[in-house]
Amino acid sequence: MRVLISGGGIAGLTLAYWLHHWGHTPVVVERAPHGRLGGYGIDFFGTGYDVAARMGIADRLAERQLPAESICHVDGVGRVTVRLERRLLEKVIRGPYLALMHTTLEEALGGAVRDRVEIRYGHRVAAAEQRADGVDVTFADGGHESFDLLVGADGVHSATRELAFGPEERFARHLGYAMACYPVPDTYGLGPRRVHHNEPGRQTVLYPTGRPGELIALFLYRTADRSVPPRTERRDALRGAFSDTGWLTPRLLAEAPRDDLFMDGLTQIAMPSWHTGRIALVGDACGAMTLTSAQGASMAMAGGYLLARALHRHDDHRAAFHTYEARLHPVVRQRQRRARALARSLVPATGIGLVAQSAVTRLILRDAFTGLLRRGYGDTTSVLTHD
Ligand SMILES: Cc1cc2nc3c(=O)[nH]c(=O)nc-3n(C[C@H](O)[C@H](O)[C@H](O)COP(=O)(O)OP(=O)(O)OC[C@H]3O[C@@H](n4cnc5c(N)ncnc54)[C@H](O)[C@@H]3O)c2cc1C
Repeated sequence: MRVLISGGGIAGLTLAYWLHHWGHTPVVVERAPHGRLGGYGIDFFGTGYDVAARMGIADRLAERQLPAESICHVDGVGRVTVRLERRLLEKVIRGPYLALMHTTLEEALGGAVRDRVEIRYGHRVAAAEQRADGVDVTFADGGHESFDLLVGADGVHSATRELAFGPEERFARHLGYAMACYPVPDTYGLGPRRVHHNEPGRQTVLYPTGRPGELIALFLYRTADRSVPPRTERRDALRGAFSDTGWLTPRLLAEAPRDDLFMDGLTQIAMPSWHTGRIALVGDACGAMTLTSAQGASMAMAGGYLLARALHRHDDHRAAFHTYEARLHPVVRQRQRRARALARSLVPATGIGLVAQSAVTRLILRDAFTGLLRRGYGDTTSVLTHD
């Protein structure tokens, strides 16, 4: 089958790899001109690691890990108040854990499909019309082409979802936060650790990217505003949200780029169904979980793998879509619930809440509380464990 995949991110590239592996012909259209630059760090474990291992790229990923021996919380003057050692994190997760740049994972997936799958950068789908035996696609450059299936792997603000299922508002669940991040030169002597600083309703995070002399500054804040400011206004909006904050935050904000600043709300996508006719969705497009789950990339890879496998096992695409969704949708729903629960307490809104969070965290970050931590983290196991 010829399958058009809209979006060459984690879900799209994983799906392309496995479709090709099982004898289909995927074509990927990616809106960005060529790969993506910049990015942010991700925790990577469970299903994502499992699928990466099956693709033979886990070792390559392990070689390119971020220097992250611990995760620390610091107070307004930089004193460490809480420290989570990587060793304990691995114990809680019960399996291999990698700290990666999101772009590292995308590059590895890109490497796995290069020379096997056609990827058209700087392209996007403008319209799609379903027939009984195919999907007629019109591209933004005016070109027309027909495919057997169309899969939207174009992220949380998916245009494919909009075309086939309706506007984003219908499926978006806002968690009451916005985030922003950008790279800064490493003039802070951070070392191999990720550092968090919380103030009421706001969190600043700093971590190394693995590229010499470069760190990522990430900002997370509570807001009822669901709109994302235009690029030219983001820097001012961020500085406004973090005015009068402590630690290194003012210095980091002084280094904010004028317009190349990634900013978005924390939005989950919840849909009654992930497919309609010959069009299906995968990854954030149908099941965005937000960064509080630390499993979005894993679920995107699970989706790519399971959808391709279902298409391999069933001749009829309807049966395949049904099998894929029946397997993964309940898992995503359950992990989204966990991510919402975590979001409620991630950055306490008040000073008293912060003191309580710090005290409880200090108490439970010990080996003796591994079971409790595990429950707090939610289900981190691979959905493919018994396959
Ligand atoms: C700050 C941050 C931290 C995170 N931390 C973690 C973590 O610790 N662990 C974890 O597992 N996950 C984490 N995530 C979530 C994870 O990054 C996502 O869940 C994952 O990237 C989803 O993959 P995807 O392929 O579905 O979507 P994306 O990665 O968003 O990829 C979508 C692709 O589609 C392309 N595209 C968009 N629109 C179009 C269009 N119209 N036409 C063609 N192409 C298009 C985009 O350019 C992109 O390449 C984090 C996310 C953020 C923002």
